[in-house]
Amino acid sequence: MGSYTDHMIYLDSSASTPESPEVIEAIARASRDLFGNAHSEHACGRKAMSAVGQARECLANLLGCEAEEILFTSGATESNNIAIQGIVLAMEAHETLPHIVTTTIEHKSILESAKMLAKKRARVTYCGVDKYGIVKIDEIESICNSIIHFMTIMMVNNEVGVIQDIAKIKEYVRSPQTILHSDITQAVGRIPVNVDGLGLHLASFSAHKMCGPKGIGGLFVSKDTPVRPLPVYHGGGHELGLRPGTLAVPLIVGFGTAAELAAKELAQNRQKVEQLRDLFLNRLQQEGINFEIIGDRNSRVPHSLNIRFFGVSGDQLVGSLQPQVALSTGSACASGEIQPSHVLSAMGLSTVASKECVRFGFSPSLTHADAVDAANLIIRQVCRLKES
Ligand code: PMP
Repeated sequence: MGSYTDHMIYLDSSASTPESPEVIEAIARASRDLFGNAHSEHACGRKAMSAVGQARECLANLLGCEAEEILFTSGATESNNIAIQGIVLAMEAHETLPHIVTTTIEHKSILESAKMLAKKRARVTYCGVDKYGIVKIDEIESICNSIIHFMTIMMVNNEVGVIQDIAKIKEYVRSPQTILHSDITQAVGRIPVNVDGLGLHLASFSAHKMCGPKGIGGLFVSKDTPVRPLPVYHGGGHELGLRPGTLAVPLIVGFGTAAELAAKELAQNRQKVEQLRDLFLNRLQQEGINFEIIGDRNSRVPHSLNIRFFGVSGDQLVGSLQPQVALSTGSACASGEIQPSHVLSAMGLSTVASKECVRFGFSPSLTHADAVDAANLIIRQVCRLKES
């Protein structure tokens, strides 16, 4: 596989992706040449700000919006916090107790924010998912009978890779005043996303899921949003007044490069990871491994798989494959938790079932040989652990 590791087959691209060589190069160049503060008046600052502007354009092109509608944050966790808390602050300014609607399978940065807000600053309704991980449309329909101030539904789940039909969900939202936010972190760069076309008002995303650097992300804030989030942080008024602080120019430049590459290579990368995934699955099938793919078979991103190996502990399987194969039993943000995955539980899996699940993430930098080698190593360990 790529140059960043000789011995490990990296199958955890839902947790993070390797930076493209072009991204590493762009970050190094920007670190060397664009050291000025992008808000300084002098030529050095202007040069840095011009590079930030170009990166914003690349992201706007990838997401189908205008550059002025994107603000840079430290990642999707921060974007989600700014979106949900910022809208609640805006509602509070109107002395309204906001009604937030979300789902039971969101990333913890949404769920924990919602839990905190539900203590006294908002009413929160959680919509469930079916056994395939698809948001229950009948629940959405019935919730939409009440007034909703903020609806946040992720486009692609980070544990099972299932895609939600945001356009269809939006059809049920009756009030044009309802702010629609989506965590599009796992979708961007993997499937086409058009935030304007979907009618989203806000959307969160992150560079390190699309071969960009860690520590940089973004929030789309539509110019047509009926309510803008109020600042959660206070400072120099940078980034639409919502994310003050000196801009991380090299990371932003790296993010822009990753976005440019993603736009150019999306179709080809998609085809490549689909082939890798199918090659891997075929090997498991050929050897008669007893497994099940968790989540909808059709509405899913190509790079991600969540597989239950019947009778085998996911933790033991992952441990037994170290250091040859990097993969995980669930979200990296939740690793170390004793509780079964909230996503798998929401899909109706028992504790026993969810502890037999492992998450796979294929990236285009893998070769066909990597996919086959990984499958062979997994087959060997699954058979060994079943016997023990
Ligand atoms: N949302 C989703 C769906 C994610 O997968 C992640 C990363 N695990 C995040 C939010 C948080 O992103 P970041 O690491 O950029 O804070």
